[in-house]
Amino acid sequence: MRRAYDKKTKLPTALVAELAKVGSQAQEAWKEARENNDFPAFEPWLEKMLDLSKQKAECYGVPEGGELYDALLDDYEPGGRAREIEAVFTPLGERLSALVKDLLDNGTTPSKEPLTCKIDATKQNTFGNFVINALGFDMQAGRLDVTTHPFCSGIAPGDTRLTTRYRDEKFTDALYGTMHECGHGLYEQGLPKGDHFGEPLGDSISLGIHESQSRMWENFVGRSREFWEWALPHAQEMMGSGLDRFGVEDLYRATNSVERSYIRVEADEATYNLHVMLRFGIERAMVRGDLAVNDLPGAWNERFEQMLGVKVPDDRRGCLQDVHWSFGLLGYFPTYTLGNLYAAQFWEKINEDIPDLSSQMSKGEFGALLSWLRTHIHEHGQRYRAGELCERITGKALSADPLMRHLEGKLRPVYGV
Ligand code: ZN
Repeated sequence: MRRAYDKKTKLPTALVAELAKVGSQAQEAWKEARENNDFPAFEPWLEKMLDLSKQKAECYGVPEGGELYDALLDDYEPGGRAREIEAVFTPLGERLSALVKDLLDNGTTPSKEPLTCKIDATKQNTFGNFVINALGFDMQAGRLDVTTHPFCSGIAPGDTRLTTRYRDEKFTDALYGTMHECGHGLYEQGLPKGDHFGEPLGDSISLGIHESQSRMWENFVGRSREFWEWALPHAQEMMGSGLDRFGVEDLYRATNSVERSYIRVEADEATYNLHVMLRFGIERAMVRGDLAVNDLPGAWNERFEQMLGVKVPDDRRGCLQDVHWSFGLLGYFPTYTLGNLYAAQFWEKINEDIPDLSSQMSKGEFGALLSWLRTHIHEHGQRYRAGELCERITGKALSADPLMRHLEGKLRPVYGV
C-alpha cells in the first residue's frame, strides 16, 4: 500500500497532465506516421514522450541498486531490475536465434493447411466457449465477447470479461487469442477479491506473472499434442467438415510452426521473444541516453537482422509497428517475455507435482492444473514479488533454461532437426 501511495503522490500534477496530453497527441501522430511509413514525422513526438518518461522516472527515483529505466519498469513489474532481466534475456536471445536459424535453415517446415479451413465466426465462438469452459473459466462470473483488440478485464469480484476476434480464414487466431485471455481471466477469477478487493492482496503481482498465466494456457496447454488429442474431435464436430481430413499430428505440427516475420503480434511462440528482447534493449538504451531517437530506425534494423537474419523492409514493419512508446509505455515490453519465462519455469514444477498431467490434458481434464495455479499463485494476490514467488515455487531464480528446454524439446522434433 505504501508503494501504491508513493506512486500516486510522487508525480507533480503538471507532469501527469503533460504526460496525458502529449501522450494522446503522440499516439495520433504515431498512427499517421505508421500509415505513411514516415518515421521523421513521429520522431519529435517520441523525443517528447521519452523526455517526459524520464522526468517521471526521476520523480519516482532510481531504485536501490538499479538504474533510471527500473523506475519505469516498476510500474509494470514491481521490484524488477533491468540488469537482472538482461542476465536472463542475453542467453535466451543467443540460444533462441541459433535455434530458429537451425529450424528454418535445416528443418522441414510443417504444413499450415489445417489452419486455413474456412470456419464462420458463430461456430468458432461455440468452440471457443466450449474450450474455456473446459479449462475452468467460470461463466457465472464472467463472459466472452467480441472486440477489435482482444483483452481481459477483471472489472470487479464476480465479473471478469474476456474478448476475442474472429477471422474466418484462420480459426486458430481466435482460438489461441481466446485461450490467452482465458488464462488472464482464470488468474483474475482466482484472486482473493471477495475479501481483498482494491487492496494489494486482491490484485495481481505484475504484468509478467499475469502473462505467465495467459501464455501457459495458450502455449503450454493449447499448443500441446495432448490438447489436440482431446480438442480435435470436438473441433471437428462443432466447426464443421473442413477439419475432418486432418489428424492430431497435423494440427499439432501446424500450430507449432516458426517463421521469420517482422510483426511482433503475429509472431510465433519462439520468435516472439526475439521481437520483445529487441525492444527491451532499445528502450533501455534510449532511457540511458545511449541511443538517440533519430538513430532508432537504424539501430532497430541492425539488431533485427542480427537476431532474425532478415532485413527490415520499412519502418512500418520495423520501429513504427507498436503503439506502446507513443503514449509512454516504456518498461512494458520485457513483461511479455518474462511471462513466457515464468510460465516455462512453473510448468516444469507443475509436471513434477502432477506427474500424469499429460494424460489428464489428453482427456480434457484441466482441474488439477487450475487448482495448482490457484494454490501456488492466484490465491496469494501480491503477497510476494514476482522473483520471490518464482523462488518459492521452483526453488530457483528465473532462468532461460526451462523455456529453452520447452522450445527445443517441442520444435526440434516438429522440424526434424
Ligand atoms: Zn496477455
